[in-house]
Amino acid sequence: DPFPLRLSGPVIKGFGRGSKELQIPTANIPIGGLRVGGCETVESGVYYGYAGLDLPATTDGDGKVFPMVMSIGWNPFYKNSVRSVEVHIIHTFPKDFYGVQMNLVILGFIRPEFDYVSKEALIEDIRMDIRVGVNSLERDKYRKFKNDPYLTDFE
Ligand code: ADP
Ligand code: MG
Repeated sequence: DPFPLRLSGPVIKGFGRGSKELQIPTANIPIGGLRVGGCETVESGVYYGYAGLDLPATTDGDGKVFPMVMSIGWNPFYKNSVRSVEVHIIHTFPKDFYGVQMNLVILGFIRPEFDYVSKEALIEDIRMDIRVGVNSLERDKYRKFKNDPYLTDFE
């Protein structure tokens, strides 16, 4: 069990594969933003865990730590020579947060990467991933990770 894995980096521009169109935006970070070892050897696929975002605190008491599901996958844009990390945060944000530092604590694996013949099939799987991720995070053994100091350790 390699978990928890910890990874951080600035939110960068992706390749506009239309996540937002699909109502499922993914905040991308460079895979090189690895701070604590492990991710080079981590298998491609879909994972769940928590994301900490260095956003100003809001008046409605929103924290900076949110549940997330993410994919680590080979990026066709670079002819599959580099992997990308894409994180869907389970929260509604009032605006984009490119450039903001994101710290990830990855707690479990959901499934390997698949190729999709249709947008609908992809969306259906992502919706399922979100349900699996949210349910998994409700387990007792994961509760403490919401307060993992790594999540709010912003440089
Ligand atoms: P890109 O191709 O640049 O990654 P996306 O369509 O995937 O574009 O949208 C990602 C951007 O949307 C993130 O970088 C972030 O600024 C913003 N965003 C807004 N809400 C969310 C969310 N719930 N999860 C992830 N990113 C979000
Ligand atoms: Mg994206």
